[in-house]
Amino acid sequence: MKKSISRRTFLQLSSLAASSLYFDSNSFGMSIYHDENLDSRDDNYRFNLGGFECICFNDGGLDYKPSDFFKNVPTEELNEVLRKQKLQLDSIYTPYTHLFVNTGKHRILVDMGAGKVLPNNGNLPISMRSVGIEPEDIDTVFITHAHPDHIGGTLDDSGNLVYANAQYYIWKEEWDFWFSDSALEKTPEFFVKTAREQLNPIKDRVTFLEEESEVLPDIGVLFAPGHTPGHMVVVFAAGKEKLYYVADTVLYPLHLEYPDWVPIYDILPEIAALSKNRIFNLVAEEEALVIGQHFTPFPSLGKVVKKERGWLWVPS
Ligand SMILES: [Zn+2]
Repeated sequence: MKKSISRRTFLQLSSLAASSLYFDSNSFGMSIYHDENLDSRDDNYRFNLGGFECICFNDGGLDYKPSDFFKNVPTEELNEVLRKQKLQLDSIYTPYTHLFVNTGKHRILVDMGAGKVLPNNGNLPISMRSVGIEPEDIDTVFITHAHPDHIGGTLDDSGNLVYANAQYYIWKEEWDFWFSDSALEKTPEFFVKTAREQLNPIKDRVTFLEEESEVLPDIGVLFAPGHTPGHMVVVFAAGKEKLYYVADTVLYPLHLEYPDWVPIYDILPEIAALSKNRIFNLVAEEEALVIGQHFTPFPSLGKVVKKERGWLWVPS
């Protein structure tokens, strides 16, 4: 047992084989998606990765239409799976999980929440303050991609930077896409308008990433395009432990179990499929910790096990 794995995670892992049987067969009526206690859960979750102090924050989350999350699945087939998982047929709730990491030297945030751009969100800076972290303390912000739920919280109500002292990192192709004419052809105008409004004020503080590299000591980036043209994954390696913030490489654990199911939100679905294979084979092989921004239940933290077809999400 590695010392920075929590007891809960360890117990989860030690029962992995049995869990896989449950989830594959569904014969025990268990679900990794349905969480009756979701509403009463805290909006922050603290854990350690080696010497790094980590906190997951839920910015608020949102209900989605299942047909938007699984656009190519016949309704009856989809409903059967949703029923088995004890999920509602008419909406799917996902948290918006963002990650704070204190390395001792750097205070890092991965993605900035939706702010006031989407309903029921904007909790991230409030929640940070509630555990003693001022947004001004953040010196590094990684932007995995520029969808509204990841960058809507860049500015406050007055149009000032919430993370006023941060250096920002984004993949160059991601930035270029949202400021290009083709963005308006490939994605809703609201998304483009939000990205431009929120990101333009940080232009002078952005480092544009063009290759996979270690950006800060023990912290690297992987290019995982498809969901958006410059979507990236952020990797934290503290000692022997690794944590991948996979953002929206896939949106929801069912996209792992049913790898052919795709959401309407992927701008380049064929490339997204390649990134999905690469990233989830990697994290499964390394038995690394994973955070998917929309993975249920909050804190969206767990591990991924490779199956014959697809992968299984095992929440911590
Ligand atoms: Zn997202």
